[in-house]
Amino acid sequence: MNFDHLVVSVKKILSAKRFNHTIGVVNTSAMLADRYDVSLESAQIASLLHDIAKEQAYNKLEEQLKYFGELEYLSFSPSVWHAPVGANIARNEFGIKDQDILNAIKYHSTGRPKMTKLEQIVFLADYIEPNRTQPNVDLIRKLATQNLETAVAQTLADTVAYLKSKKEVNIHPDTVAACDYYRRYVK
Ligand code: FE
Ligand code: FE
Repeated sequence: MNFDHLVVSVKKILSAKRFNHTIGVVNTSAMLADRYDVSLESAQIASLLHDIAKEQAYNKLEEQLKYFGELEYLSFSPSVWHAPVGANIARNEFGIKDQDILNAIKYHSTGRPKMTKLEQIVFLADYIEPNRTQPNVDLIRKLATQNLETAVAQTLADTVAYLKSKKEVNIHPDTVAACDYYRRYVK
């Protein structure tokens, strides 16, 4: 399936608002891929599919996590379930075989330690695409043009601080581990 056909398919699945966010992620990750010498095609495909499962009900996501054998996610916040489910949909329904693309989708929500450049780009683009308005987002947009790891580190630190402020007790361990790992890159 070529990229334009993929865009049409994704547009049919997502709400207008989610599709708009998705296109923001596609464009932002394209810019970062160019900046950091990563495959443009990989960055755009991973970004286009990253939230493909985001609008499914939690009970449906739960069913699929069980079906795909991703049981460990069930113990943590449902807000990240769409990411591993999305990676499985990308593989099974969209025929994506590239493991780096599949991992960029799977880890876009939690992050993880030692992310590849592609994983970091999708993770960051999701956080800084033009529709985003969270505190510090302009700082992270600036960092993203300077150093990938530093921008990822700041994103993780802000995400964990936000989750703690919301008294989220079920933070996924990949997020905690990623935050610890990337701390060394904080300036
Ligand atoms: Fe997401
Ligand atoms: Fe997203």
